[in-house]
Amino acid sequence: MRKLFLILSILSICFGKVRVVTSTTDLADIVKSIGGDHVTVISIARGNQDPHYVEVLPSYMIKVRKADLYFMVGMELDFWAKQIIDGSRNQKIEVVDCSVEIEKMEIPTGTVDASMGDIHRFGNPHYWLDPKNGRLIAQLIAEKLTKAEPKNSDLFQQNLNLFNHQLDKAILDWQNRYANLSGKKLIFYHNSWPYFSNRFGLETVEFLEPKPGITPSPAKLNRIIQRIKSDKIEVIASESYFSDRVPKFIASKTKVKTVKLAQSVGAIEGADSYIHLFETNLKILSKAFGVEHD
Ligand SMILES: [Zn+2]
Repeated sequence: MRKLFLILSILSICFGKVRVVTSTTDLADIVKSIGGDHVTVISIARGNQDPHYVEVLPSYMIKVRKADLYFMVGMELDFWAKQIIDGSRNQKIEVVDCSVEIEKMEIPTGTVDASMGDIHRFGNPHYWLDPKNGRLIAQLIAEKLTKAEPKNSDLFQQNLNLFNHQLDKAILDWQNRYANLSGKKLIFYHNSWPYFSNRFGLETVEFLEPKPGITPSPAKLNRIIQRIKSDKIEVIASESYFSDRVPKFIASKTKVKTVKLAQSVGAIEGADSYIHLFETNLKILSKAFGVEHD
């Protein structure tokens, strides 16, 4: 009898949960915050991986095969997700595009063509890097989890309220503590940061990539070196997955400081949750600009 009870409780632990797969660690972290013990969640991309380019592996399709929900970033950032989902042959899965409610930045006004590079053709897809967009993502996740498991709707709602409360509190705190970053000029490697910069008042001068996804040419690097000297640019910030080679080369010719930021949860040390990602990045930037607050 006791054995039967044990088996039944193990079964209920395994089968009573909403099974979720996400494209990125940021979405997975928010799913965990809202779903708590009532979900299992796996992210396909690792935090320190370039989210634009993820190799489609059969093992990912197996992970998706038994899932109830798939949350994607959308705006073609994770175009690779479609191949994984199709390959999983999971007829019952609900695929949710988390970008639907987002106010999108940098939507091209003219015709979209290959001269723009292969990525960011439908606007800038790095919207999770504005913490206020975290609220919209969490709202959508809570709705979809509730639909999948209506009996836990109160719990998901409570977790959503708590997440929003913590995020709002953190945003106010960051806008206070890191107010000195406002108006600071910097160069980014890839154009991942317009939402982040917009929120915290940073000014982007240049990108090392001539177009999103394109490696910088020597001529481009020379122009950047001249620009750093003439405009007294203090900081180059790179996504964690880029090699240090190009930023270090520029730093050897100028006085610019180079830092790595977390473009996703788990990208660098300290960025171990959605809220800690912002805290970590803001701390790194304020240190690099010498405007730390104690
Ligand atoms: Zn991008």
